[in-house]
Amino acid sequence: MPELPEVDALVSFLRSKVVGDFITRADVGELSILKTADPPLEAISGLEISGVSRVGKALIVEFDGLDLVCRFARAGWLVWHEDVPAGPVKMGKGPLGLRIHLASGAGFDLSEAGTKKNASVSLVSDRTEVPAIGNAGPDALTIDEDQFAAALADSTSRIKTVLEDQQLIAGIGNAYSDEILHAAKLSPFAPASGVDAPALLETMRKVLGQARDSLIDLPPAKVKAAKKRGLQVHGRAGETCPVCGSTIAEVSYADKSLQYCPGCQTGEKKLSDRRMDRLLK
Ligand SMILES: [Zn+2]
Repeated sequence: MPELPEVDALVSFLRSKVVGDFITRADVGELSILKTADPPLEAISGLEISGVSRVGKALIVEFDGLDLVCRFARAGWLVWHEDVPAGPVKMGKGPLGLRIHLASGAGFDLSEAGTKKNASVSLVSDRTEVPAIGNAGPDALTIDEDQFAAALADSTSRIKTVLEDQQLIAGIGNAYSDEILHAAKLSPFAPASGVDAPALLETMRKVLGQARDSLIDLPPAKVKAAKKRGLQVHGRAGETCPVCGSTIAEVSYADKSLQYCPGCQTGEKKLSDRRMDRLLK
């Protein structure tokens, strides 16, 4: 799932390409992607794009008085075309969710890999009508010390859960919460209320800031691979920790998994993998 650093890279790229251009057409490739009906999507045809921005993990294409809020979900991405294919879009035939045609001849797609279709697009006059925007907490890059300390102190959850809670801190998902906790030498299962908030905030800003800086000038097609290269523990179970040399471990739960370094984060203790425990019993 694209998180704050990657979405900022997409925003920066798109802003440099589309602001001041006009939309000529929007083609829907997957009916379920469109979450709003009023105004209809056709309302953006002929409009000038005035800006591109991010709230949490959402990318927003802005018009005078209207916002197109794009949410990528787990497998969604932005595909840029210098020459957008002019032909008709085949409905429900693949990764293409939405295609935007621009007056310049360029365009972009919101695409989504896999069979689960969770990416979404909402066209609204007030972006806070989109629950993910209206309910979003302070941004992970700008949350202040008091807000961050309160989010941790008031929680009965594990720190990993709090970092990923978009209503408390917006922008972080499974990958960067693993990275932040590794850099902070904290167990993902540590109770949030007992964590040194100022120290974790500093680490969080550093990890996200460095990731963002490393991705911000890349075109969308290169961002995902660059993100993976920059990760130290996430998605690297079985590999060697670049900090301490321990073997990176994994906990699987529900339909996802987290990775951590036992040497850096848990005093060599292996965290319980409840799904595996159940299978072994
Ligand atoms: Zn380590």
